Amino acid sequence: MPQKYYHARLMSAQTVIDSLEFARAAQELRGRLPVTNLVRLQDCLVDADGSVDFVVKGGRDAERRPILALEISGLLHLQCQRCLGPLDYPLQLSNTLLLVRRGEDLGADADDPEAADCIEADLALDVAFLIEDEILLSLPFAPRHADGSCQSVLSAMRREGSAPAAFAKLAALKKGSGQ
Ligand SMILES: [Zn+2]
Repeated sequence: MPQKYYHARLMSAQTVIDSLEFARAAQELRGRLPVTNLVRLQDCLVDADGSVDFVVKGGRDAERRPILALEISGLLHLQCQRCLGPLDYPLQLSNTLLLVRRGEDLGADADDPEAADCIEADLALDVAFLIEDEILLSLPFAPRHADGSCQSVLSAMRREGSAPAAFAKLAALKKGSGQ
């Protein structure tokens, strides 16, 4: 589908930033990434439905070092490792990343478990790629339904027939995020 392909290219062009300049100028980037664009993430999901909303804000930390603050939200469909049925997984992530220059010595910070995560400053940082990384790092290793709420194969098949319920939930979530 050529139109979809064009859309994906457009999205990726919009999400490339000069990370240090972005932090210095305290810029902000908001957007929505369709799960279909997050190819690496799809390996962990039962389907590519839905999208992920993000906000990236540039700024400085208390020590005046350049940072990127990320907020990520959405609803993903993981696979329950007990019943193999689809599992709604609400995504709500926030993280602050410290920008460091290539080869920069992090000194004592490197051993401090409380220290912020670091990423290398990049003139062409792909925010979509970064967000996908953050999501992948945050996913549970073995997602499961709550005890007693796993579905039999039969009820899982029935549930397949009621897909609109999942869409309604997603729509409600989108509405809740004010977009
Ligand atoms: Zn289950």
